[in-house]
Amino acid sequence: TEKNEMLYQRFFVEQYETKLNTVRKNLQETLLSILKELGEISGQTEIYESSTLKCVDKLSEDMSVNEIRNVLDEAIVATKEIRKSGESTQQRLKETTENMQVLQKEFEQAKSELLVDFLTGVFNRKGFDQTLKRSVSETTGPLSLLFVDVDHFKKFNDKHGHIVGDETLRFMAKNMQKSVKGSDFTARIGGEEFAVILPETPLLGARTVAETLRASLAQLKLEKKSKSESLGTITVSIGVAQYRPGESLENLINRADKALYFAKNAGRNRVATESDVANGTT
Ligand code: GH3
Ligand code: MG
Ligand code: MG
Repeated sequence: TEKNEMLYQRFFVEQYETKLNTVRKNLQETLLSILKELGEISGQTEIYESSTLKCVDKLSEDMSVNEIRNVLDEAIVATKEIRKSGESTQQRLKETTENMQVLQKEFEQAKSELLVDFLTGVFNRKGFDQTLKRSVSETTGPLSLLFVDVDHFKKFNDKHGHIVGDETLRFMAKNMQKSVKGSDFTARIGGEEFAVILPETPLLGARTVAETLRASLAQLKLEKKSKSESLGTITVSIGVAQYRPGESLENLINRADKALYFAKNAGRNRVATESDVANGTT
């Protein structure tokens, strides 16, 4: 039943992601309609247009919840009333802007409560922390951790731009999740850094998983969506550590991190385990 529960959790994350996508889309539409309302009121629009557009931008990279939607609805009512009431347009627009600020605060709040990374659909840092804690306390056998960092991603971004970079991260996360078992957990724990939690897996088994993952990512052929322009390939370096019963999660994370940097220093596009670090070899 432990496995079932883990599978259930993954299923839950997928459902959640779909729901959030819908909410996000609705919010974007609502914001755009506020913009349109403001556009119909003469004169003052330009000042507010840029800040509303910023909100829309933010929503397109992130997500949100119902509370925010309510604030948006209020903002729409407020803008509609401007036209009806004939009150000072300035004053009403000021209120609308204040509503927008509340919206942004609530949006940040909602974001901080989230466990899923919006870009890739895998766990975010917070989801990772919670899942690692839970996995460690629930797993009866050995548990290992992979830290995966994309090689020379700054260069890739500089060459192809951030939009293509983001699309690539999304693609890599999907492939990462595909190449590990249903009971393993993938998370995006930093910009171009991922982690995979492997319950019931000792260090040597985890090394094999990491090596398979590394090889499968290295052979992905990246292409630009619009044109079928080739973007070449991308490699990752992976650090592997096994949990030692009783130790802090911080300790485990430190060893995985050290192993990752060992792999980087050894030339990238490779896997290193904590015992490689201890022995000074790969
Ligand atoms: P290394 O092989 O040592 O890991 O080199 P690197 O360039 O990948 O590492 P570095 O830490 O110097 O830079 C990470 C770069 O990853 C910085 C930035 O260009 C890119 N990056 C980080 N987060 C994101 C993101 O969310 N989207 C995109 N498109 N790029 C990101
Ligand atoms: Mg990095
Ligand atoms: Mg990197």
